[in-house]
Amino acid sequence: MPEEKYVERVDAVVVGAGVVGLAIARALALAGRDVLVLEAEAAIGTGVSARNSEVIHAGLYYPPGSLKARFCVEGNRRLYAYCAERGIEHRRCGKLVVAASAAQAAGLARLRRNAEACGVGGLRMLAGAEAMAMEPALRCHAALHSPDSGIIDTHALMLAYQGDAERAGAVVALGSPMAGGRVLADGVQVDVGGAEPMSLHARLLVNAASLHAQALARALEGFPPAQVPPCHYAKGNYFSVSGRSPFSRLIYPMPESAGLGVHLTLDLGGQARFGPDVEWTDSLDYDVDPRRADVFYEAIRSYWPALADGALQPAYAGIRPKIQGPGEAAADFLIAGPAEHGVPGVVHLFGIESPGLTASLAIADHVAAIAAG
Ligand SMILES: Cc1cc2nc3c(=O)[nH]c(=O)nc-3n(C[C@H](O)[C@H](O)[C@H](O)COP(=O)(O)OP(=O)(O)OC[C@H]3O[C@@H](n4cnc5c(N)ncnc54)[C@H](O)[C@@H]3O)c2cc1C
Repeated sequence: MPEEKYVERVDAVVVGAGVVGLAIARALALAGRDVLVLEAEAAIGTGVSARNSEVIHAGLYYPPGSLKARFCVEGNRRLYAYCAERGIEHRRCGKLVVAASAAQAAGLARLRRNAEACGVGGLRMLAGAEAMAMEPALRCHAALHSPDSGIIDTHALMLAYQGDAERAGAVVALGSPMAGGRVLADGVQVDVGGAEPMSLHARLLVNAASLHAQALARALEGFPPAQVPPCHYAKGNYFSVSGRSPFSRLIYPMPESAGLGVHLTLDLGGQARFGPDVEWTDSLDYDVDPRRADVFYEAIRSYWPALADGALQPAYAGIRPKIQGPGEAAADFLIAGPAEHGVPGVVHLFGIESPGLTASLAIADHVAAIAAG
């Protein structure tokens, strides 16, 4: 624990200045709370939020009624409105989920029924010929068209959230890791490390530390360890191809366990990248092993046979903060407030993997509602 310099009272502390932490800080500040965001790194948004696909998901995949489904569908709608209002670069380019065979087409129909049960609108089943007319480089048996999937400049989004939060009085403290703390009778003692260690007394602590959320919850003295779920890391590697993308929409194969399959996403500059795959790991190592390209070639050629040998280059990797381990059923977001764990003044966010970026505005409102009691 850092040496205690002084104790200051703050209303609400949000740990983590990623897209979710900043969205929460914004929502709390707009609700009139005094907010301090503690970010361990020297800049905002260098964690999971800097290493993802930057896709605005429509919400096809999640069990109806789950937090992921609800927050993704609501978050999608609100994110487009927010981007338009704030001039954040994005493109509602749409996406095709493709079935490579007749056998896979039954899976597409199931996916569509699931998505519609979640409230996703505008979906259309396409025969292979229709899909290939839309995307001439594509080969498929059938496809599901999702018009409300898109791409976004995540960093611009985070800057907009930060700006809104700061205008409403929030303070973002960089280089300020929360090192530990203690549950108190009337709030939480928050021990801050970094260059100027100090202890704060907060009425509300929101743990949005993502890959470190479980470790942080365990470092909170007086918080029941049995309420901290397991933490598993599933790395997602990306490969890129040089030149302009042969596709103008996002192209996804049928989903696989723990991931959405090696899909094609686009950046706002029109370049294609493929991934993320699923590599379970114990470390936060972001190197991409070029040998993983073999699996990518095979997966991508199932829908883009023209992919040339040697075209894939290792790009980057991100790590999913998962609650479930290899082979276990997919877990929902776990947003645990006093009603769940019994400790007043504490909200933990666990397992905020995809679609956390899309869902960020909806997650933030949910946390603000918990905080309002
Ligand atoms: C490979 C991959 C692809 C994805 N693709 C998509 C997608 O296309 N669309 C989508 O909607 N979602 C996607 N996601 C999910 C999305 O990226 C995340 O849900 C979202 O970025 C999580 O934001 P966050 O703020 O919770 O986490 P982070 O961005 O990781 O922020 C957490 C912050 O907490 C800080 N921190 C940690 N510990 C401490 C501490 N003790 N004290 C202070 N600060 C601390 C970290 O430095 C970090 O800045 C993807 C995720 C991955 C891994």
